[in-house]
Amino acid sequence: MTEIPLEQHIAPSGEQMTVRDLASCPPPERWHDWVEYDAKAWPRKVERHYAIIPTICFNCEAACGMMAYIDKETGLVKKFEGNPYHPGSRGRNCAKGPATINQVNDPERILYPLKRGGKRGEGKWERTTWDEVLDTFATKIRAAIIEDRRDEVMYHVGRPGHDGYMERVLGAWGVDGHNSHTNVCSSSARFGYQIWCGMDRPSPDHANARFILLISSHLETGHYFNPQAQRIIEGKMKGAKLAVMDPRLSNTASMADYWLPTWPGSETAVLLAMVRILLVENLYNRDYMQRWVNWQEFLATEHPTEPQTFDHFISVLLDLYAQFTPSFAARESGLEEETIIDIARQIGYAGTAFAAHTWRAATAGNLGGWQVARALWFLSVLTGSIGTPGGTAPNAWNKFVPAPFLKPSPSEVWNELLFPPEYPLANYEMSILLPYFLKEGRGKLAAYFTRVYNPVWTNPDGTAWIEMLTNEQQVELHAALTPVWSETAWYADYVLPMGIGSERHDVMSQETHAARWIGFRQPVLRVYKERNGEPIEYTYQANPGEVWEEDEFWIELSWRIDPDGSLGIRKYFESPYRPGQKLAIEEYYRWIFENSVPGLPEAAAQKQLAPLEYMRTYGSFEIPVDKAPVFTLKERELKSVDLEGTQIDKLNGKITRNGAPVGVSIDGKAFEGFPTPSRKLEFYSTTMKEWGWPEYAVPSYIHSHVHRDTMNHDMGEYLLIPTFRLPTLIHTRSGNAKWLYEISNANPVWVHPVDAERIGVQTGDLARLTTEIGYFVNRVWVTDGIRPGIVACSHHLGRWRLETGQGTDRWASALVELAKVNNGIWRMRQLDGIQPFASDDPDSARIFWREGGVHQNLTFPVHPDPVSGMHCWHQKVTVEPAHHEDAYGDVYVDTRKAHMVYQQWLAMTRPQTQRPDGLRRPLWMIRPYRPAASAFKRE
Ligand code: SF4
Repeated sequence: MTEIPLEQHIAPSGEQMTVRDLASCPPPERWHDWVEYDAKAWPRKVERHYAIIPTICFNCEAACGMMAYIDKETGLVKKFEGNPYHPGSRGRNCAKGPATINQVNDPERILYPLKRGGKRGEGKWERTTWDEVLDTFATKIRAAIIEDRRDEVMYHVGRPGHDGYMERVLGAWGVDGHNSHTNVCSSSARFGYQIWCGMDRPSPDHANARFILLISSHLETGHYFNPQAQRIIEGKMKGAKLAVMDPRLSNTASMADYWLPTWPGSETAVLLAMVRILLVENLYNRDYMQRWVNWQEFLATEHPTEPQTFDHFISVLLDLYAQFTPSFAARESGLEEETIIDIARQIGYAGTAFAAHTWRAATAGNLGGWQVARALWFLSVLTGSIGTPGGTAPNAWNKFVPAPFLKPSPSEVWNELLFPPEYPLANYEMSILLPYFLKEGRGKLAAYFTRVYNPVWTNPDGTAWIEMLTNEQQVELHAALTPVWSETAWYADYVLPMGIGSERHDVMSQETHAARWIGFRQPVLRVYKERNGEPIEYTYQANPGEVWEEDEFWIELSWRIDPDGSLGIRKYFESPYRPGQKLAIEEYYRWIFENSVPGLPEAAAQKQLAPLEYMRTYGSFEIPVDKAPVFTLKERELKSVDLEGTQIDKLNGKITRNGAPVGVSIDGKAFEGFPTPSRKLEFYSTTMKEWGWPEYAVPSYIHSHVHRDTMNHDMGEYLLIPTFRLPTLIHTRSGNAKWLYEISNANPVWVHPVDAERIGVQTGDLARLTTEIGYFVNRVWVTDGIRPGIVACSHHLGRWRLETGQGTDRWASALVELAKVNNGIWRMRQLDGIQPFASDDPDSARIFWREGGVHQNLTFPVHPDPVSGMHCWHQKVTVEPAHHEDAYGDVYVDTRKAHMVYQQWLAMTRPQTQRPDGLRRPLWMIRPYRPAASAFKRE
């Protein structure tokens, strides 16, 4: 630290320090030694010298760029700011980005690997070594592989925060063991997109849109919300109109030109009514539809005796959707007819510049929620706005995942704990049903990793997860890999501290806008130390305590599973530069940047840097559009060599080789098309028909399990929306960020004034909300910002810990008693709310918030959608004033009822186990961590 006289402010470069230097983003050429005045020294002007090293945020999937300011005097990270050179976030982060510094310095942080001392869940923890952890798991996994129990090794992840790495690890081990959080998150939306176009996420070009329709809250909290929010505002500033369909007046809805507070689950009816208006009023893109929709296949199969013309297809559509009049949609949704008509017309006028997005929201709440995404994409199809400037592209046209060296062949194993026969079309793993499947004896887990995943707190029926995790026959060995304490880590055998956004390597790309980019997350202290000549072998040597990173952990573990290479695993973890030697993590990324990112080596050469050094210096790279175009990619023409040995179907132009689709012929030209069976956009899905759901072969409306007809408000019945996010928190991961909890520390139940009067509650009163399997007690917030008949409670709060001094961070959690009190009944009661505590951080003694929110997910049974597999989150609840014995935060659960509800929903499935082709799942459909085609066949 240099204190200089007030009259003398000279930067190390010799320049006079000016206000300009203090006000703007540091230019990269000065990142090696950036000088700022120390704010705490004011009014003296004291210079502090920083090394700025870019990385990317780890607090949500948006992968925004950040710059870590490392104080050269202390060698510690001082703060994080946005990286203006990152193509997605462009220097702007949400509150959770800079709050990363809280997570680095959290006094409650887990700094060393821990091993349980007593029984699982007893809370007795002992420090252990990484060596002991690696040897224990290597022995267990090696035995499972040698004994061909390859479905007993499972890696279960929340938000992964990387692209491609684990696919390679699990592929190298030859297991089918990837499990995710997706069916509590996005399975339904993904399914709705996939069934149309073979790709499962939307990527709107908001900045160039004329009309934007969101069925979510993307200006404040949705997927990739910060990068997308910037572009939505850009679009609005250029004149775009914004409509938001949300029963809750979210911050996003409050910024919209149209707030459409639909009754949850009725969104599909509204969207299909808009479809009908576009058809009736001739506002659809005829040329696009004629070329790219599989209408010929539809007519030939379903209407073979009728004219096989496009005009007739349109008249069939008009018949098919005749019931979806504005008045029908208005009745279902509660919207005004005129509003529905107005918005449909504006969508039609916007044409190819219509941008639309849905992700969780309605799709995640309702039985049949996948039809919401399907109906929304229908509007994009009708307007021809797919992959156009101002339109909506499939994610795969914008996201870029670089290939690593030496990729393993897909595994030959099919794990029915993940993809059971009841759910052949499930978009991702049937994660929420794992406890039930293990209880039913469908299998067991020899080695189970939960990684940044907290099912006890996040999933429905969390007590089923506690029962599973404490059963050593069902789960023999469990490690929680986590940057922060969680309710699930409490029940693990090992708690393994993993790095946050400035303490780990990952490469990430997201479909934030119409471009392709990659971001490089890096352990900034390691990079800083290495630049200063300090050799670092493992990242935990540079991080706080012994906090490690997964990448190196998996390399070490794989090496120990197969020390002599005889299992064929070790070769994937050998250096591509030093044959036979163990892979260094730097070499893994060096190879990718040198070989797999178009344009990067050239861009690096221009700066006289190697590709790895370029990424270490700048932290991200946008792939030049001439190397990776982003619009109308379906029209990539096939070369004559691609057409060798192919046949063209005269009816619909499908080009196949040995029965497998390779492209589509339109107007005499051969195109790549979409990755669907017809290579076109599938208005008509033969897959739905052939796999047990013929009534859903075309987009249609499914009554939600919480349809408004099922509610009797006079009996106290309401629809609970438990899914909405807060912009400042992120599930489990933000529990150690004090600034974020200072901003958001309560999750009251939103109740409309009309309903509050009927129920007999006012703001601040306690209410009891009773679900199918139990109840919780929370405070009420009476507000006009919610539709009457609906109540809502954010799921981001209500963290708990079971002991005073350890477990979930004290910034965020209440001390509770949680116990199974008798046969199948669990109760939770808060013993103490959030309290100040003594620590190295003086702020911990200044905590002023006391209640910290109420947990609700324990009281929800599983509701797996029989098609998409998505947990349908919305609940029918009874709302009443709290009983005299109730207290804030009380939770009561009857697990016997939870099991009955599971069985009721399981009975709604249509297993396809007797198929003549023996397939477990359509071969064309996406399956994460896709095994070999042979594994798709039943033996
Ligand atoms: S939007 Fe997500 S990635 Fe971006 S700063 Fe916020 S939490 Fe981090």
